[in-house]
Amino acid sequence: MDCIFCKIANGEIPATKVYEDDTVVAFNDLEPQAPTHILVIPKAHISSAADVNEENSAVISHIFEVIAKLSKELDMTNGFRVVNNCGEDGGQTVKHIHFHLMSGRKFTWPAG
Ligand code: 5GP
Ligand code: ZN
Repeated sequence: MDCIFCKIANGEIPATKVYEDDTVVAFNDLEPQAPTHILVIPKAHISSAADVNEENSAVISHIFEVIAKLSKELDMTNGFRVVNNCGEDGGQTVKHIHFHLMSGRKFTWPAG
């Protein structure tokens, strides 16, 4: 499958990885929108949040364990934002589910 995040997960495309285990990998976003901007993905391909189901959802809760761990390790004591873009209107550009973990500035709500 021609998926850049599958290729990052299996090492075919380089990325600056900040965390990796059997099922999850986290790496720096190529175009950071905050001083810290990490993408956390499952190694197994799930296209989007609309494709999470009973069979594959365990890795999604594990992703949130990894996010909590990274937030402590990277000293995000002032807070952070987790974003998942889903589908065209959601602004998803890479069709492999990913969670943006951003910190180091104050975020506005709604939007950026
Ligand atoms: P989306 O818009 O789908 O929510 O987010 C995709 C994110 O992937 C963007 O923030 C974009 O900068 C990042 N991205 C796209 N291609 C690459 C790549 O090859 N390497 C890395 N590290 N990030 C990428
Ligand atoms: Zn993929």
